[in-house]
Amino acid sequence: MKIKLGLLYGGKSAEHEVSLLTARAVSQAINFEKYEVYPIYITKTGEWIKGSVLTGPAESVETLKFGEAVSKPNNISSFLPVEGNDDSQLDVIFPLLHGPNGEDGTVQGLLEVLNLPYVGNGVLASAAGMDKVVMKQLFEIAGLSQVPYVHFIRKEWKSNQETLIQKMEESLKWPMFVKPANLGSSVGITKATNREELIKAVELAFKYDRKIIVEQGIKARELEMSVLGNDNPRCSIAGEVLPTKDFYDYEAKYEDGTTNYAIPAVVSADLLERMEDAAIRAFKVLDCSGLVRADFFVTDEEEIIINEVNTMPGFTPISMYPKLWIESGLSYSGLIEELIMLALERYEEKQ
Ligand code: ADP
Ligand code: MG
Ligand code: MG
Repeated sequence: MKIKLGLLYGGKSAEHEVSLLTARAVSQAINFEKYEVYPIYITKTGEWIKGSVLTGPAESVETLKFGEAVSKPNNISSFLPVEGNDDSQLDVIFPLLHGPNGEDGTVQGLLEVLNLPYVGNGVLASAAGMDKVVMKQLFEIAGLSQVPYVHFIRKEWKSNQETLIQKMEESLKWPMFVKPANLGSSVGITKATNREELIKAVELAFKYDRKIIVEQGIKARELEMSVLGNDNPRCSIAGEVLPTKDFYDYEAKYEDGTTNYAIPAVVSADLLERMEDAAIRAFKVLDCSGLVRADFFVTDEEEIIINEVNTMPGFTPISMYPKLWIESGLSYSGLIEELIMLALERYEEKQ
C-alpha cells in the first residue's frame, strides 16, 4: 500500500508564490512508487481547495492552482476525518507554508485536531518561533547570546511614546532594527539611524502587528545552519548570507538577486562546533521537531549571537535549508523522505 501524502501549499501570506514553487519542487522529488500525492491548495484569500491525486511531478506552478478563479472552494469541514470524506484516508500532511497562518502553529493546531500526522514543528514550537519576543525570552533561558532589545505593544506606544524612545536611546546603540514581532521574510523591518527614522519605523511595524521589537543593530557575518531530527537532532554544515546592500531585506531575499551565499561558509572547526551547540540548544528550548534553520550573527571576535530560528524555512531546492543538507551529503529527495518519516515517528510517539 502506498502512503497517502497531502501537500499543503499556497496560503494567505507574502510567501504564497514561493510556496507554489516549493510544492512543484517537492512533487518533482517525491518517490511516486512509495507515495500517492494529494495536493491541497490554499488560495491567497484563504480558501482550501483539494486537487485530484497527482500521478507524477507537477509540470508547472499553474497546474497546482486548480483553476483558482473558477473552482468552488471546499469547506474546511470536508477535511475532517469522518466517513465519506476522502481525506480521512490521508496518512501524513506536508505543510509547505511560510509566515502567519502556516508557520505559526495555527495550521499545525488544525492538523492536530484532525488527528493527522504532519511534517515539521508542532503547535508550540511554531507559535514560539513566529513571535520574536517569546523566541528571545526562550533563547535567554537556553543561555544563548543575543543583541540587546526592547519590546512594546501599540497601546504602550500610544500612551508613552516619549518614555519608550528614551528607554531605547538609553539601552540600545544606533542603528536600531525595528521589527513586527510576528512575521518573517523581512516584511515590515526597518533599520533606523536616528530618532526621526525610529518613530517612522515603529509606525510602519505597527501596521503589521500589535507588538514590535526594537533591537540594537550589529555589524556581523550572517551564518545559518540547518537542524534535522526529533529527539536527537543533527546539524548540517554552515552557510553564509552575503547581502550586497544594507541588510537582508525582502527585495534582497526574493526580488533583486543582490544577495550572494557561501555554501559551505568559511568557518573554523571551533566556530562550527559552537554554532552546532547553539543551534541544538535553540532547537531544544523551543521543543522543535522535524526541522529548523538557526540564523546567527558572528562578530569579528567570533562571538556567536543568535538572531532567530525559522520553523519552516525556505524549502525550494535552491533555498538555504535544503542546500545545506545537499552539501552535507543528503539529497533533496532524501531530505523529504526523512522529514516524512520523522513526522510519522513523532505521531506514533504521541499515541
Ligand atoms: P525575518 O524573520 O523577517 O527574517 P530577521 O530578524 O531575520 O527577520 O531580520 C531580517 C534581516 O535584517 C536579517 O537577516 C539581517 O540582515 C537584518 N537584521 C535583523 N536584525 C538585525 C540586527 N539586530 N542587527 C543587524 N542586522 C539585523
Ligand atoms: Mg524569520
Ligand atoms: Mg531572518
